[in-house]
Amino acid sequence: MKKSCEEVLSRLESAGYEAYMVGGCVRDRIMGRNVHDIDITTSAHPEEVTAVFGEENIIPTGIKHGTVTVYREYEVTTYRIDGSYKDSRRPESVTFTRSLEEDLSRRDFTVNAIAMDIRGGITDPFGGREDISRRLIRCVGEPEKRFSEDALRILRAVRFASQLGFGIEESTAAAIHSMCGLLRNISHERVSEELDKLICGENCVQVLLDFSDVITAVIPEFQPSIGFEQRTPYHRYDVWEHTVRAMASAPAEDMALRRTLFFHDIGKPACATYDETGRGHFKGHDKVGAEMTGEIMKRLRWDNHTIDEAVTLISVHSEKLKTRADVKRMMSRIGDEMFFRLMEMKKCDNLGKNEFVAEENTFFDSLIADGHEIVEKDECRSLQGLAVSGRDMIAAGLSGEYIGTALDTLLEQVIYGALPNEKNALMDYIRGTFNA
Ligand code: ATP
Ligand code: MG
Repeated sequence: MKKSCEEVLSRLESAGYEAYMVGGCVRDRIMGRNVHDIDITTSAHPEEVTAVFGEENIIPTGIKHGTVTVYREYEVTTYRIDGSYKDSRRPESVTFTRSLEEDLSRRDFTVNAIAMDIRGGITDPFGGREDISRRLIRCVGEPEKRFSEDALRILRAVRFASQLGFGIEESTAAAIHSMCGLLRNISHERVSEELDKLICGENCVQVLLDFSDVITAVIPEFQPSIGFEQRTPYHRYDVWEHTVRAMASAPAEDMALRRTLFFHDIGKPACATYDETGRGHFKGHDKVGAEMTGEIMKRLRWDNHTIDEAVTLISVHSEKLKTRADVKRMMSRIGDEMFFRLMEMKKCDNLGKNEFVAEENTFFDSLIADGHEIVEKDECRSLQGLAVSGRDMIAAGLSGEYIGTALDTLLEQVIYGALPNEKNALMDYIRGTFNA
């Protein structure tokens, strides 16, 4: 049976230790937000925690840092003071303490340094509740010191501001701007994990505009986008602001779509040309952007499936689709599901442009409707769907590379309605065209 958090706290207390909920769960509970996982901090040392719950109920998740997982669900960490830091990363050593206040003082932000006991009693030595009510992210202690200990906190500050819709307190913000270069020392996995949360936050637009320097510290490839004027009637924002606004118009739960939009125009500055009227064009930016995105996402260790989706969508996102046949053609290239993703992406893209451009979204809706009908009627849109196969091409006397070329040609003709998807008609065409 599922054990409650109260049970964990009360068993530790009954054994004579102190135990509190701490961090995100307390913060979110005070704010009335959804609590997704519960961290517990305790005066008990890891072996004492193990003795209280029994080995069978313990996973030694991070024994070195004093963390065990109890009942597969609760991360229980011994009060600790972090030792000196190496390379703005992890503490070289941690020291356990029996003082809750000492443990709270090692935590990153005041809103994350509040402890709550089983009776709802609060310990809040750094004014976390006041900062919650003022909607502010503020370092515990001196920002410069805290960021030089662990530079990931710089990105975490910005991520929390985005997620919670908070501002960043002045001296904390100043230290973020002056120290964000330290993020270069942080492991790529930790960076992408934070970025994912940041771009899905309710306040991501403001945060990404105000702290673009934090983003370019981890993804320098974005530098040219910032302030890059587009000089076209479609756009009212520079490339960076357009990117951010397009991204934020995707649903916050759809992390994959947000990520794709985050990177979608990264190739624009490199592809910009200006015609004689001074108007900007960005020919090829989708292909260039897709390549850049693939490299960046690999470097930051996103998984292959995630990378493939983003790269595929970005590589075709600026192609014009006008007709039902174009819909089938795109489906034949990237698959049905990805076609619908592309349409969602293009609608969000438009929402980050000039207002009149958004009118095009009703047209995209009609293409989506076409797409659904094509799927429902299973209209031919792939080689597998053709009424002839490679074997038929061989029977018609074709060999080698001509087989593939012939099938591709037939698919094209069927998609664009020049030929019916019927074996006789297709074979006649082949015999006529390829002199087979
Ligand atoms: P989330 O809602 O994302 O889980 P959280 O505040 O719970 O937010 P976690 O990463 O789960 O964040 O960390 C739990 C707690 O541990 C934090 O609230 C904070 O008190 C502390 N903490 C985590 N990372 C750091 C860090 N890099 N430096 C200092 N304290 C940290
Ligand atoms: Mg947490």
